[in-house]
Amino acid sequence: MLESAKMSKNGMLTKILSRIRTDPFSANYELVGKELGRGKFAVVKKCIEKATGRQCAAKFLRKRRKGQDCRMDILNEIAVLESAKANPYVVALYEVYETNNEIILVLECAAGGEIFNQCVADNDDAFTENDVIRLAKQILTGVAFLHRNNLVHLDLKPQNILLTCARPLGDIRIVDFGLSRRMDKITEVREILGTPEYVAPEILSFEPISTGTDMWSIGVLTYVMLTGESPFLGEKKQETFLNISQVNVDYSQDTFDGISSQAVDFIKSLLVKNPRKRATAEECLNHPWLNSLPHPHSHPHLHARSASSLDEPETSQSESEPESPA
Ligand code: ADP
Ligand code: MG
Repeated sequence: MLESAKMSKNGMLTKILSRIRTDPFSANYELVGKELGRGKFAVVKKCIEKATGRQCAAKFLRKRRKGQDCRMDILNEIAVLESAKANPYVVALYEVYETNNEIILVLECAAGGEIFNQCVADNDDAFTENDVIRLAKQILTGVAFLHRNNLVHLDLKPQNILLTCARPLGDIRIVDFGLSRRMDKITEVREILGTPEYVAPEILSFEPISTGTDMWSIGVLTYVMLTGESPFLGEKKQETFLNISQVNVDYSQDTFDGISSQAVDFIKSLLVKNPRKRATAEECLNHPWLNSLPHPHSHPHLHARSASSLDEPETSQSESEPESPA
């Protein structure tokens, strides 16, 4: 194919191990239920592998987007998923199909959906600080693995962090490696489609991207998971950009009501303008906050919770360590 002759550019991975199947996807999988989600150029649907009954998530990626051939981007996404398959917190890739117009990634199904839903929940579904500690450790374990392997995700946000199960709260699966790159070879990756809320200042000022770029996003993620508020979000995009470049963050007692000071310290170690001065994933994993379970007062969103706690009794949630999937 013409594409395979192209040189690797921009830190994209080009070598994939998976066999790309051209027999019909529908012969081996049955689509069930509704869409699991969609993003910029992909639709993700739940399906069942006919031979085994296994539940999967099929990500349908269009090869042409805005009149451009994007097959290389999809191969890069596949290659990154393959490189990270030893880590349980990165979604597993089972198979790849190709049709005239699409490439279909058959992925492990993360049935609990996006952590986004619980981030914005102002009720019993909202995370407790203990939940956030357990989930943050998993996200960091996954991201530390990527970084050790010279890979950066570059699109960490609550829509791309999924759960194996929502209730009881399951484990993390990191998805969407469409923007991921090899660290040493990046020249430029500046796709800010949609919300800029999670992008690091260096992206906005066209400075080099590094593993620190992911760490900033983890700082924003942690902030949102704990407080239910997006730290940099302004009324307009320009305002958000300005808030990010000035690192204008609200750490007030009011916003962090009922949340430990170690949590605030953790976030502060990540929302630092200079990417080289941000904590690394390994450093984060050693931060006292992540090793401080269980917290006696662990109810962020407390005000909102107490209103809804009239409807339903609290369900108990175990804080036990996650089991690694086989
Ligand atoms: P895009 O690159 O278009 O953003 P994503 O890979 O982020 O595509 O998938 C879009 C959405 O589909 C996700 O935000 C999520 O809601 C859902 N989704 C993606 N992968 C899975 C999966 N393995 N299991 C369940 N839902 C998924
Ligand atoms: Mg996405």
